[in-house]
Amino acid sequence: MQNKKIAIIGGGVAGLTAAYLLSGKYDITLFEKSGKLGGNAYTLTTSEGAEVDIAAAVFGRCSYKNLFRLFRKLNVETISSFRRHSPGWSGLGASFFDLDTKTGIYLTPGIKGLLAQNFEILRPDRVRSILQLARGLRRAQTLLKRGDLAGLTVEDALKKVPELHVDAKLIFVTSLCLISSMNCDDVLDAPAGFFIEKLKKHSDLAAPKALFSVHFAKNGTKSYVQALSAPYRERIMLNAHVKSVLRENDGVRVFMKDGREMRFDKVVFACNADQALALLDQPTDDEKRLLGAWKYTEGTIIVHRDHSHFPKRELMEGYTFLYRKKGRYVETSVSGSLWALPNVPETCDLISTQHPNFPIEKDHIVFEKVFRTPLFDFQSCPTVKELPSLNGTRNTYYCGSHFGFGLHEDAVTSAIEVARNLGVDF
Ligand SMILES: Cc1cc2nc3c(=O)[nH]c(=O)nc-3n(C[C@H](O)[C@H](O)[C@H](O)COP(=O)(O)OP(=O)(O)OC[C@H]3O[C@@H](n4cnc5c(N)ncnc54)[C@H](O)[C@@H]3O)c2cc1C
Repeated sequence: MQNKKIAIIGGGVAGLTAAYLLSGKYDITLFEKSGKLGGNAYTLTTSEGAEVDIAAAVFGRCSYKNLFRLFRKLNVETISSFRRHSPGWSGLGASFFDLDTKTGIYLTPGIKGLLAQNFEILRPDRVRSILQLARGLRRAQTLLKRGDLAGLTVEDALKKVPELHVDAKLIFVTSLCLISSMNCDDVLDAPAGFFIEKLKKHSDLAAPKALFSVHFAKNGTKSYVQALSAPYRERIMLNAHVKSVLRENDGVRVFMKDGREMRFDKVVFACNADQALALLDQPTDDEKRLLGAWKYTEGTIIVHRDHSHFPKRELMEGYTFLYRKKGRYVETSVSGSLWALPNVPETCDLISTQHPNFPIEKDHIVFEKVFRTPLFDFQSCPTVKELPSLNGTRNTYYCGSHFGFGLHEDAVTSAIEVARNLGVDF
């Protein structure tokens, strides 16, 4: 008997994982509308031949259980950020630099970083801010546990956590921008419970144990994109933009933008929630409600070598937040120092900036790309628990990072759930 045919729409981490797990039992076809696999896990090959992850991905060993299980199965090597460059752990530091006053807070625990900031991190006011941050996070967890954050925005919740004030508040809010790819105003308007849950789940990323817990893929995101797609290479269609999906009693019909039409038994939507809804002919009421709740931000990431607005290189160990007071609080860009990545030579001088809020010299720009990332707000967050209930209706299944906190672990876990629903355990 012939294997059943499954269409998987979207070649990001979720779609690749679903395809990898299902390819042993089903006749799968993966449709990816761009010319490249990986979705938001994007590797750029520079003119010097270096391969850099422009949306660099870090994973906590304790909180990314399924991703690490998958990596072990695929033999994808990971490396602790602690062991990255010697001496120090340059992948982990974070600097917060005021674009107007040109002053900064440098959480740069590597040897070079400590020397470059004259051990300022040990100044009593700096130590106090870090202790305040830790206490504030603890208080926020207690409020969450008691249910006191229900219905509160991040901005409202901050009023209940006096420890998150001045420097501690700056570090807290801008870090939420980092872990969500959202801008500051959207973070302030977001449900506080969502972010505090996320920090709780990923507590090994935001605590001293992060020094040992945080890992990178040793050979970059490309290593797992390749490993995940290797078993079904010939079943991948790139530049294959699905235009609509028609569900019938005995299967589904996939219509592509170039006019082609293909028949399948089942379909897995591994694209963004709003994209999935737009593709569906006659969505159910639940599909309209649960997928329709999601909005996405289209934010530009610029890879460049314009260091003129940044603190000196030694003070850019991992992420640098260039911020200025604006609007309700601050506006910040988030920049990654690409030389801090494990597979990139230390001589690299490239910076990857998300939501740029400063002028970047045109000649120094190497690459630009718009990334779509989910907006976690009071409409979308409540749907997260219900999204898996859509699986199985009308031969349709769903996965993606919006099934959780927007991270790799969520994309992988939701794909494992789709596979389980289709009789494949992992
Ligand atoms: C700057 C940045 C930094 C990040 N850092 C981390 C990190 O450190 N750790 C971490 O865990 N996560 C991180 N993330 C999040 C992580 O990248 C995402 O969780 C993950 O890549 C999402 O995968 P996905 O498969 O759900 O969606 P996507 O990657 O968005 O994939 C969806 C795919 O569907 C395709 N598609 C859409 N519509 C169609 C169509 N009609 N036809 C065919 N194909 C279609 C798209 O082209 C895309 O390739 C980061 C994200 C960004 C932007």
